[in-house]
Amino acid sequence: MKRFSAALIVILALFALAACQQQPAEQAAAPAEEATVEKAAHDCEACAKGEAGETAWCEGCNMGFVKGEKVACKDCYGAATAELAGWCETCGVGFVKGEKVACKGCIEAAIAGTECAACAAKKTEA
Ligand SMILES: [Zn+2]
Ligand SMILES: [Zn+2]
Ligand SMILES: [Zn+2]
Repeated sequence: MKRFSAALIVILALFALAACQQQPAEQAAAPAEEATVEKAAHDCEACAKGEAGETAWCEGCNMGFVKGEKVACKDCYGAATAELAGWCETCGVGFVKGEKVACKGCIEAAIAGTECAACAAKKTEA
């Protein structure tokens, strides 16, 4: 029984030690959060261009503009600025020469230079 309580004391001491060691780490983490600099809105070249109606992506703000229209997703921006057509898997939208298209088949067809089989079938049905 004596041995058991001795072991218990050792365990408790270890816990207390661990608790003490954790505190300085938490204190060190706090100032780092405060140091996060608040981003000034649109003082960057890319955003200024975009707001002026141009097509630009701002790496700093992580957003872009396609012909002055705000685009929050980089894949969408890439798709919208693709030479022929592009598809954003994340948002499920695509662009053919900058025009928004909801059908992925149309995007693939536009890249391949063919017609979208799915949409062609719909047209003949209607
Ligand atoms: Zn920006
Ligand atoms: Zn997207
Ligand atoms: Zn289609």
